[in-house]
Amino acid sequence: MTTIAQRSQVILTQIADAARNANRQPNSVSLVAVSKMHPSSMVREAYLAGLRDFGENYLQEALEKQMALADLPLIWHFIGPIQSNKTKPIAESFSWVHGVDRLKIAQRLSEARPESLPPLNICLQVNVSGESSKSGCAPEEVASLAKAVVVLPKLKLRGLMAIPEPTTDVTLQHQQFRMLHDLMSALNADGLALDTLSMGMSHDFAVAIAEGATMVRVGTAIFGERNYSEN
Ligand SMILES: *Cc1c(COP(=O)(O)O)cnc(C)c1O
Repeated sequence: MTTIAQRSQVILTQIADAARNANRQPNSVSLVAVSKMHPSSMVREAYLAGLRDFGENYLQEALEKQMALADLPLIWHFIGPIQSNKTKPIAESFSWVHGVDRLKIAQRLSEARPESLPPLNICLQVNVSGESSKSGCAPEEVASLAKAVVVLPKLKLRGLMAIPEPTTDVTLQHQQFRMLHDLMSALNADGLALDTLSMGMSHDFAVAIAEGATMVRVGTAIFGERNYSEN
């Protein structure tokens, strides 16, 4: 049995190695530990192992954990699908939102972000696999969405996020991550100043880093398998 602390160190080492292999600075990639479906006690363990950024998909579960961990200086990322009736609590309780894929959601987050808090960091989710079931805007829509979001007050547009089609075909993994990288480069060439590529999960974060990921979202490799039947 390994501990969360040991697994966190392994992942941090693998992230740094993947960055070096891509001729990038090891500290150019940050880790969001995805704690969905795991108890707050495990988040606390990961905090003690040095992790600070945590990703959650389900609002109610996240709010309960935030309450239980209010004594810790954690940075919370909302990475799940966003229903428009949940935008207010999300805007009030998170530092980052990664799954914004339409203007209406961004407008609601901006309106609901409290004045007392810094701007809410936003990544636009892009559907890089073309699967019709996937959330995320189409690649050809991202430029117009970005231009509309970047002017909203109380939001800070940071970059792009994707969840590629799960595949063991490494060539296909590279292609999907490269598409997101190229989309962000095009937006930056067009005058935006985006600095975040949120891509890569437990099984593919090294490939994502090779293609320019600056933020990887890793759950299972740190916390173990999620047991959906218990909840
Ligand atoms: C669950 C989830 C992750 C983490 O996935 P693992 O395979 O457990 O590393 C990352 N990103 C998003 C958006 C998720 O929903």
